[in-house]
Amino acid sequence: MPELPEVETVRRALALELGELRVLAVGGRSTALRRPLVVERLAAVLPGRRFAAARRRGKFLLLDLEPPGTLLCHLGMSGRLTLDAVSAPLLPHTHLVLRLEDGRELRFVDPRRFGLLDWLEPGAEAADPSLARLGPEPLDPAIGRWLPPRLKARRAPLKALLLDQHLVAGVGNIYAAEALWRAGVRPDREGRRTALPRLERLALEVRSVLEEAVAEGGTTIRDYAAPSGNFGSFAVRLEVYGRQGEPCRRCGAELRADVLGGRTTAWCPHCQR
Ligand SMILES: [Zn+2]
Repeated sequence: MPELPEVETVRRALALELGELRVLAVGGRSTALRRPLVVERLAAVLPGRRFAAARRRGKFLLLDLEPPGTLLCHLGMSGRLTLDAVSAPLLPHTHLVLRLEDGRELRFVDPRRFGLLDWLEPGAEAADPSLARLGPEPLDPAIGRWLPPRLKARRAPLKALLLDQHLVAGVGNIYAAEALWRAGVRPDREGRRTALPRLERLALEVRSVLEEAVAEGGTTIRDYAAPSGNFGSFAVRLEVYGRQGEPCRRCGAELRADVLGGRTTAWCPHCQR
């Protein structure tokens, strides 16, 4: 599942590759993604427009075009955006194809269909149901000031709070587990029962683990943009995620796995308190 660093990598790659290219034509097949994808609607607005900027909010991509309007995109569980030569065979589960003026196609492939593609008219962003209530960005240098009081005000387990997109946008299961381990904080500890200095440390670890992963992702941009390029997996070395039953790399204790808020989380019972 793409997390924030992967989405940021896609954003940078698209900003680089799409530049100010014009969309010539739209193809694909309408289908039920997270929202209904209506290809006819996109075909009515996209041809003739040029890409202008690629932005990110949490795990959402916002591709701005000129004349103004925005293609909103979420990769869901298995979504991929690829740039391919027109002659490249279409992969199964390709839902949308944008023909570009440089002879390539921007394609959206999503086997599990939890992704999202929608058109936002200028001004619609503030009222969009997916975007309107998103919390601030975790890469914000000021996260150490605003996140701790937000966590302190809540009684839910910290792991669940980090995944709450209204508190902080774009933190997923992998990096929440890693940040808690780095900060030495138990994932099931309640926000309101955690001392502020520990929450400040946690907030800073959230930012730094994401920053490191974004930096790591920068090296895969070229692969991603290559024809049929597979924008694959990359990550900073994961210390706890997926390592339950293995020894903690800090203290050697066996890592545990618990289910919190419906998601499995691995943690160290010795050094996370
Ligand atoms: Zn440990």
